[in-house]
Amino acid sequence: MKVINVAMVAHDNKKEEMIKWVKTHKETIKSFNLFGTGTTGRLIEEALGQPVHRFLSGPLGGDQQIGAAISEGKINMLIFFWDPLESLPHDPDIKALLRLAAVWNIPLACTVSSADLMIHSSLLKDENYEVKRPDYTNYTARQTPADK
Ligand code: PGA
Repeated sequence: MKVINVAMVAHDNKKEEMIKWVKTHKETIKSFNLFGTGTTGRLIEEALGQPVHRFLSGPLGGDQQIGAAISEGKINMLIFFWDPLESLPHDPDIKALLRLAAVWNIPLACTVSSADLMIHSSLLKDENYEVKRPDYTNYTARQTPADK
């Protein structure tokens, strides 16, 4: 991947984990363009002293903004430490964000261990490796009952 535009989101009970994680990987993260939901983005910016493009706070629409940016090809990696022990008011948005990451085949890590492995993958530096953006031409050209 030539340019890594990574979005980071951490639920409140996961924010300390996220901050610890970004500090641990500061050197690697330096070369990434950072995006985040409002509060997560602010905390990361303060922890690293590296600018983070901040969307709205997750429950206020930030998850959906990140999902839209993924769909538009503007974000090509997602680190999302969601809280598996709490249901949140924006659960539908969380599900939608996870869904769009899968729709667009972007690398996605939801745990510290998967994030460790993802950002240290040798494939990230491999010129011949490309994350394929799915081609939905057939889907968008499909016939619907209204076409008949
Ligand atoms: P926040 O949003 O970074 O603004 O707290 C995260 C979320 O809960 O989706």
